[in-house]
Amino acid sequence: MKRVDSELKELSTGLLDRLASTEEWEIPPFPASAAAAAGKDAQILPAALQLGRLQAEVEGCRKCPLGEQRLRAVFGVGSARARVMFVGEGPGFQEDHEGEPFVGKAGQLLDRILQSIGLSRRTVYIANIVKCHPMTDPSNPELRGNDRPPTPQEAAACLPYIEEQMRLISPRVVVTLGSVATKILLGEDVGITRVRGVWRQYRTRLDERTIQLLPTYHPAALLRNPELKRDVWTDMKNLRKELESLE
Ligand code: SF4
Repeated sequence: MKRVDSELKELSTGLLDRLASTEEWEIPPFPASAAAAAGKDAQILPAALQLGRLQAEVEGCRKCPLGEQRLRAVFGVGSARARVMFVGEGPGFQEDHEGEPFVGKAGQLLDRILQSIGLSRRTVYIANIVKCHPMTDPSNPELRGNDRPPTPQEAAACLPYIEEQMRLISPRVVVTLGSVATKILLGEDVGITRVRGVWRQYRTRLDERTIQLLPTYHPAALLRNPELKRDVWTDMKNLRKELESLE
């Protein structure tokens, strides 16, 4: 555990330097219930338990200013054995209030997208790069439309958590939702329209595993511009093909 802690610390520091120039198992919201649920299947007990511990750590985290501003930390939801992980940039108003990622209108759309290819938020894993709500006006968490993307410093401080989630869940595919999550994970300053739908190889920072990464549009972008749905549907069909090839 000490080694992992020190690796996480190094990872956070290293990324901050660079930026300066995420069988069916649902992870319940609290560590105690995570442990109880994990007991139903000894095979997945270690990952589920470790996710529970990590969630408890995130819920007490104050490594960046967002920790003082959030209402609830938003750790992640889904299966500890998910083959595919969906990663967004950060929680918004609804997520901050409910403590679960993608529960607002964009989240409902994501649910329908998952359903269209035979998946659900219980069979995949869904998380964000930052676990606390980045707000334009942090003094007013009750204000709607008070969202902003995370800063590079906030993303760097939080990145070790999504990397640890990837290490524990060990997904075969990561789908990044939108420009911010894509840029941060790939470490490249590229617009989502240029990279969407193009498969990339993602090297995990903690255990140096290669995972297939597919960037696509954030569901919130589809709400603003429904024409983008066609591209996302193409990406989801490709994702389904890739998952079938892994069976
Ligand atoms: S955003 Fe991440 S690093 Fe910042 S306080 Fe929240 S959990 Fe900690």
